[in-house]
Amino acid sequence: MSTATADRAPNRLDAADEEQLLRSIGRWLEREVRPVVKRHDHEDLYPYAIVEQMKELGLFGATISPDHGGLGLPAGTYAKLVMDISAVWMAITGIFNSHLMLALAVEKFGTEAQKKTWLPRLASGEIQGGLALTEPDAGTDLQAIRMTARRDGGDYVINGTKTWISNGREGSCFALLVKTDPGAEPRHRGMSLFIAPKGKGFSAGRKLEKLGYKSIDSAELVFEDYRIPKDHLIGEVEGLGFQQATGGLELGRINVAARGVGIAEGALRMATEYAQLRKTFGKPIGQHQAIQLKLADMATRARAARLLTLDAAAAFDAGRRCDLEAGMAKYFASEAALENATEAMRIHGATGYSTEHDIERLYRDAPLTCIGEGTNEMQRIVIARQWLKRHPIA
Ligand SMILES: Cc1cc2nc3c(=O)[nH]c(=O)nc-3n(C[C@H](O)[C@H](O)[C@H](O)COP(=O)(O)OP(=O)(O)OC[C@H]3O[C@@H](n4cnc5c(N)ncnc54)[C@H](O)[C@@H]3O)c2cc1C
Repeated sequence: MSTATADRAPNRLDAADEEQLLRSIGRWLEREVRPVVKRHDHEDLYPYAIVEQMKELGLFGATISPDHGGLGLPAGTYAKLVMDISAVWMAITGIFNSHLMLALAVEKFGTEAQKKTWLPRLASGEIQGGLALTEPDAGTDLQAIRMTARRDGGDYVINGTKTWISNGREGSCFALLVKTDPGAEPRHRGMSLFIAPKGKGFSAGRKLEKLGYKSIDSAELVFEDYRIPKDHLIGEVEGLGFQQATGGLELGRINVAARGVGIAEGALRMATEYAQLRKTFGKPIGQHQAIQLKLADMATRARAARLLTLDAAAAFDAGRRCDLEAGMAKYFASEAALENATEAMRIHGATGYSTEHDIERLYRDAPLTCIGEGTNEMQRIVIARQWLKRHPIA
């Protein structure tokens, strides 16, 4: 059903190597991450020490090719890694995933010189980056962005504001979507994507306050006569920015799906444990049918979300087109995260509502997975369109 995608070679990792990698991530999570999550989350502190450890572990180069200093992980391994981390602390996956979206745009669409200049420094974490698409008046409707880049000799001069940009304050370089031809029709033909390092005329504005997804910074980015050389235009051809910015969507959606799986499984694990410990009316609450029904739904959702996500990742790794599969995985897994977090809270009763328990963080973090990489409303529309396209009659 899926067609081959020419620009992606099949990508695999030996099962033993994958297991070893996931084991070492698991040990790191238990030793370094789990003990500090609550304090960082509740105080909204940026996890500097953890970020340095993630660099050491190679996570900033997880999906960057080894030719450019990365780990070159297949999407399937990357998804499992994101699931494991998200079951403990979803927010920190955003620190390296947004960064990897910038790297993907450079690796997939950049010139050889751009790859050589930027990818090794991104892979090591020397440069921390992100993806700057959204503006105050343009989120889902990306083609409505207003930020402009005007050619001036060998440079471009950029003006405008981005908002909700992950790593906006802590990051130093962004894939920046702008209009190089604001009057173009169709609108996407006037859009271009730049590699934009921070410098004169480019500053991070205020840090945005959020319900959850704490510790990672989400910020406004302000550009006032920001000047960059023309060799920072990805691919050095104007008008391809929309395709370049959305060209990483399949992997981006697999990543958000994996975050959803992590939350759904984390919530299930806590609820399973609590259902066997907490007693009412002389028996563990897990012996009451009402709680069993919840656990059955939660376990089924978590498993289905995992399988959908790995299915999309397998298609991606085989070099097949997987926009439909990645969309389904993202949609289902993010809704599973939200539902499992809510049900886990109910199973925990008052304990689940306490800020001393991890459930309340999962409950605050889960909704983001329904918004990021395309809202679930749009996701369903995209799934339906793709579905109809792949199933024409006669
Ligand atoms: C914590 C966080 C981190 C983020 N990080 C980044 C980042 O790193 N980089 C970045 O560029 N952006 C980032 N974003 C922004 C995110 O991508 C946008 O919020 C998202 O694309 C939705 O856009 P919007 O918020 O403007 O909602 P809108 O586009 O205004 O949509 C509002 C509602 O209308 C619905 N809707 C819109 N159009 C349609 C339609 N045609 N049919 C049906 N329903 C529709 C939407 O589904 C939604 O329910 C982040 C957001 C958050 C909350």
